Amino acid sequence: MSSETQARRIVLAARPQGEPKNTDFRLEGFAVPAPGPGQVLLKTRFLSLDPYMRGRMNDSKSYAPSVALNDPMVGEVVAEVVDSQLDGFARGEHVLAHLGWVSHGLSDGKGLRKIDADQAPLQSYLGVLGMPGFTAYAGLREIGKPRAGETVVVAAASGPVGSLVGQLAQRAGARAVGIAGGARKCQFVKDVLGFDAVLDHRAEDFPAALAAACPDGIDVYFENVGGAVWQAVFPLLNPFGRVPVCGLIADYNGSPALPDGISVPALMRGILTRSLSIRGFINYDLDTLFPDFLAEVGAGVRDGSVLHREDIVDGLENAPQAFIGLLKGSNFGKLLVKVAD
Ligand code: NDP
Repeated sequence: MSSETQARRIVLAARPQGEPKNTDFRLEGFAVPAPGPGQVLLKTRFLSLDPYMRGRMNDSKSYAPSVALNDPMVGEVVAEVVDSQLDGFARGEHVLAHLGWVSHGLSDGKGLRKIDADQAPLQSYLGVLGMPGFTAYAGLREIGKPRAGETVVVAAASGPVGSLVGQLAQRAGARAVGIAGGARKCQFVKDVLGFDAVLDHRAEDFPAALAAACPDGIDVYFENVGGAVWQAVFPLLNPFGRVPVCGLIADYNGSPALPDGISVPALMRGILTRSLSIRGFINYDLDTLFPDFLAEVGAGVRDGSVLHREDIVDGLENAPQAFIGLLKGSNFGKLLVKVAD
């Protein structure tokens, strides 16, 4: 039995127009539910905040359903089993669950994955050892396919996807060029993660600086952001270049008007004449690679050869503000909310 009686959740109060506002979310209290036969009661320890959640706030067709108004925001959590009426799950065990922005929830066990706090810190299963880390691994291995001596470019390079893309590219013998926002993130990407070069996408001379940092052109561009960064990258792509299209965060709040954008005919001509491969992917479509990912990246995290950074915000009530910031780069590392000790 859980001794707590009061639970909390954050629901979608309104569909944002452009950048989300605090008033698009609402914090609600509810009674901690009791598990019935075949159920477990879960208590959230960490909630993962991820860019894809912005798309779920829209009422438009996509690869996954929208969040309904007044429903809890979707999201993956690390949770503790606090009460169990389900065989195979015991009190005190930790699981990954798609519980949403909630402090407590029930599950019938479907989709739960047990995790081991002795192998790695609990929250890392939401970051470097979780969905974002796997996204980097799978997109690079299946689509990017970096080879020794090639140049791999990735933006959002201090975040959970980008930071691993660069490190895995270097493991393959490629040169890793990172793009990040601001001096602090750039310094981290170069000096701590050890990328070969780093550029600030907010710098005025960014396109010229990127060209100078890639004297042999770009062989793999791991697309995390779109927008102005893509505009600067496209002319530099080498023949037979590969572009795993992973995310387009610059556009998630609505596409800003860009001067000198690439026209569709120019884009198609570039794809044809340079024999480019541009392929979108959603991480779970490549899930057969998950065991390889866990073995390889898990070993790297344990022996310290794979580095990562986390940005942990305290308290479920602070999730909306942290999420609003994520969409414009206020986070520095994998963004997590510590919901309970
Ligand atoms: P991060 O934790 O790195 O956070 C997003 C970062 O994007 C911000 O910190 C900011 O970094 C950068 N950013 C925001 N706006 C812009 C902009 N206009 N131009 C350039 N950079 C910008 O995120 P993740 O590592 O979790 O995700 C990275 C990308 O991967 C996202 O697009 C996400 O949607 C996508 N993704 C796709 C998945 C899939 O299955 N296809 C799965 C997981 C993630 P900075 O301050 O350095 O600019």
